[in-house]
Amino acid sequence: MDKNSPKIGLVSLGCPKALVDSEVLINKLQTLGYGISQTYDNADAVVVNTCGFLDSAKTESLNAIGEALNENGKVIVTGCLGSTPEFIRDSHPNVMAIAGPQKFNEVLDSITENIPIKSNPFEAKPSSSYVKLTPRHYSYLKISEGCNHKCSFCIIPSLRGPLKSRSMASILSEAKSLVERGTKELLIISQDTSAYGLDLKFEETLVNGKKLKTNIYNLVNELASLGIWVRLHYIYPYPHVKQLIPLMDQNRVLPYLDVPFQHAHPDVLKRMARPSNNVHDLEQISEWRSINPDLSIRSTFIVGFPGETESEFNFLLDWLEEAKIDRVGCFKYEDVSGARSNAMEGHLHDDIIQDRYDRFMSRAQQLSELKLKEKIGKTFTCVIDSVEQDHLICRSIFDAPEIDGIVSVPNKQRYYRVGEHVTVKIKDSSEYDLEGELLIS
Ligand code: SF4
Repeated sequence: MDKNSPKIGLVSLGCPKALVDSEVLINKLQTLGYGISQTYDNADAVVVNTCGFLDSAKTESLNAIGEALNENGKVIVTGCLGSTPEFIRDSHPNVMAIAGPQKFNEVLDSITENIPIKSNPFEAKPSSSYVKLTPRHYSYLKISEGCNHKCSFCIIPSLRGPLKSRSMASILSEAKSLVERGTKELLIISQDTSAYGLDLKFEETLVNGKKLKTNIYNLVNELASLGIWVRLHYIYPYPHVKQLIPLMDQNRVLPYLDVPFQHAHPDVLKRMARPSNNVHDLEQISEWRSINPDLSIRSTFIVGFPGETESEFNFLLDWLEEAKIDRVGCFKYEDVSGARSNAMEGHLHDDIIQDRYDRFMSRAQQLSELKLKEKIGKTFTCVIDSVEQDHLICRSIFDAPEIDGIVSVPNKQRYYRVGEHVTVKIKDSSEYDLEGELLIS
């Protein structure tokens, strides 16, 4: 990159899926010869990659756009909120350009038009280094975009369109290149990971010299051959998910499933128009655990959905206990502009929603505490996420970065590197985290 090349700042908001889009954008900019600025001052323009899922996220996005306009002045907006340009222009009429999610070319067109590279294009030296927004040792790998479902509280399908799976060849080639650059853990993400390949009619394709159907099992099985940790997120509990569990039992894939159940009561799930019906969810969970008893399940839930009765909520609490979900996240229901649930009857008062949230989190905390206690005395392989002065912050195979717990391990003797795998014996536990000691072989 020429030292006089224009520099672009990037503010990335939202979920890991948006983070992956930000990485793509940064790398496309670098390929064109632009520099990346860490500060508003140094940047010739700023791209704000927004989140527009909940109204609170929209407010955060509008605030970030406002800050970028104040601090820099030249702002291009992309991401989920970019699908509603009028909404953005109502608050910020002076943004330079607005593009929807994954409209990389529109963002790049606006940048090249407004902030052209002045040096001779034949002499411009695009950067060959690849930028990642996560630490070197783990990477998010997005396998598809969009979603075919129509959950009543969600506007993702209207923002990102129907399911669009990437080819296995392109995913595997990205995975290999991430591994070559130091990734030791791939976090598989999408809106609906279990549905991978459905839009491609599960077509047969040539992968590593074999003819394979484009489906989640074959994809995960091939990724597992890379010899790194593979962790599955956003898996809906369709019957075929059971096929993935033996891969976990054979230690080819981490014994971890992130399954966004959202609720457990059949009537609430019906009103939510969720893709899966819970009648068989408990059976499925126990079937998965009969194949791999170590399986760790993470899930997210929504409390206070319109019309949720006290007994439906209590059903959810009991279900949570019966399902023994290991890691739990919870959202308080809120209306999202454009979602069908806004028009439903039975919206609950904020106090009731808050009360249910508190009760849910307190039950989830008790469960987590109990489940973590069971790990005391056991030995696990952990990855080092951070090296502190007198201890290491590690993470077990049962925990994803940024959302789950940690394993704290005292260390004063040896030099360790972030990303290194260590064997840890668990000595103590708290509500969400573990403490252990290093076993040196
Ligand atoms: S499955 Fe439902 S909640 Fe998830 S992205 Fe699709 S519509 Fe939204």
